[in-house]
Amino acid sequence: MHEFSAACSIVDTALEAAKSNNATRVTVVNVELGEFTFLIPEQLIFNFEIASKNTILEGADLRIQNIKGRLACNDCGFQGESKVDPDIPPQIAVFAPMKCPKCGSSSTRIIGGKDFIITNIEAEINQSNA
Ligand SMILES: [Zn+2]
Repeated sequence: MHEFSAACSIVDTALEAAKSNNATRVTVVNVELGEFTFLIPEQLIFNFEIASKNTILEGADLRIQNIKGRLACNDCGFQGESKVDPDIPPQIAVFAPMKCPKCGSSSTRIIGGKDFIITNIEAEINQSNA
């Protein structure tokens, strides 16, 4: 249910932004999705549709842009993108230390790609007062 709580959080944030802008209907929500969130985009979209039911977000298009994860190595000082081992299932990879692609050390820390961020919302604004 990892994706469902993430979807609820996206819906809450988007609803707040929409309300403060007097939006009557949200049409598009753009999200940057970090690799190390281990969220599956298809699952996130599916759960977003459920979580947005009966809100002004219902029927909105969730557009996901994938962001690469970034690691810093404590041993050799490497900083940059890292590949998640494809042999490790995502639910385990969340807790597994990721190896430095340069020296192979497991003494690494995640410095990017841990979050999902709403970058932009497209909405219809109530202009009855204009
Ligand atoms: Zn290293």
